[in-house]
Amino acid sequence: MNKIYIIDVTNRDGVQTAKLGLSKLEKTLVNMYLNEMGIFQSEFGFPTTRHESLYLQANLELAEMGVLQPIRLAGWLRAIADDVETAFRLVPNIKHLNLSISTSHQMIEGKFKGKKTQDDVKQLMVEATEAAKAHGAESIGINAEDASRTDLDFLIEFALAAKEHGADRFRYCDTLGYDNPFTIYDTAKKLAEVVGLPIELHCHGDLGMAVANSLAGAKGVIDGGQDAYINTTINGIGERCGNADLVAVVLAVTKSKDFAERYQLGQPIDLAKSWQIANFTSYAFDVPIPINQPGVGPNAFAHASGIHADGVLKDPENYELYNYEELGRGEPEYVDTGREICTGQYSGISGFRHVMGQLPGETALTFASTEEAYRILELVRYANVESHKRLVEAELIFIAKYPEIAKKLLTMRPLDYQD
Ligand SMILES: [Zn+2]
Repeated sequence: MNKIYIIDVTNRDGVQTAKLGLSKLEKTLVNMYLNEMGIFQSEFGFPTTRHESLYLQANLELAEMGVLQPIRLAGWLRAIADDVETAFRLVPNIKHLNLSISTSHQMIEGKFKGKKTQDDVKQLMVEATEAAKAHGAESIGINAEDASRTDLDFLIEFALAAKEHGADRFRYCDTLGYDNPFTIYDTAKKLAEVVGLPIELHCHGDLGMAVANSLAGAKGVIDGGQDAYINTTINGIGERCGNADLVAVVLAVTKSKDFAERYQLGQPIDLAKSWQIANFTSYAFDVPIPINQPGVGPNAFAHASGIHADGVLKDPENYELYNYEELGRGEPEYVDTGREICTGQYSGISGFRHVMGQLPGETALTFASTEEAYRILELVRYANVESHKRLVEAELIFIAKYPEIAKKLLTMRPLDYQD
């Protein structure tokens, strides 16, 4: 039986979102949390973008160290051979790629303004795929941007060409959130049957259907005889109205009516990490979790009205579809309302040692020497300069545990640096 896998694109689509962004340390922690949760792949960034190079290299190093394992780290770039060359020059160790190009008439005409045809687009993708193969890419996903507004005959022709030249997966991008569950089911099933590649569903929320479309698309792919890969982002953050929310997708796949009887996750996902990953990402983007967010919203398990409160007290299953503990909720959170010592870009050694010594339980850190403490403090100062936010415990612990990696994440090369 074919299965469903999750490819999270928070560190690509999420950070592309207007008015939002993540520091390189925050992006790294997102990868760590996704790995702990059991997510198949993180689309971890842009290998042709120069300010990402050291971050991408540092995360690949964490993978080699066994820290970011077994998650796959995949870079995203345009399906242009020159871009593939640039990617391997800037990030030589990159192993997994997603190559993207527009396939719809709207975008080919609207963006290339008569300079390119559908055949040209297909040819660019083929050349990029061959370039990635020549560099020894271990997996290549081909993304058809605006696939939902592309005529199906051309989409099939494009996907077959990708397969013929060595692509491992085909990403069906509903870039504008135009599909509905009925249309995406039919298209995804047809693509799976005719193309014979695993299909990724990349859905957006412009019509409020990103999660529903992801599920319907995955059902179509599996009914068509292939594995399905759902693209998600944490808290649904992504271009415009966002992408399919990670936690909501996992809940929908595992808990919606009759679905899990036939359509299952290909690897276990630890839903108990949901609370942690959602809250860290909310902090990192500086965007509150909506009060009514599935699973992790402040009201997901709140009951006030008489009939509901009485019902849930008698038996939670009267008004709750799943238990809060499954999401990693239920632990009390303490907020210190007295004296606070914080770390920042102007912190000194005494305050810093105090803060690290006060970290909860086994994570509390003491330093062997003053030099050692200074070395970590300096990295913490730089991290604060980059994020402009008070660092959270997970970030302080990461820096202390992996100082050499942190140093790479916090290094910005001069603009005239020659690669
Ligand atoms: Zn997108």
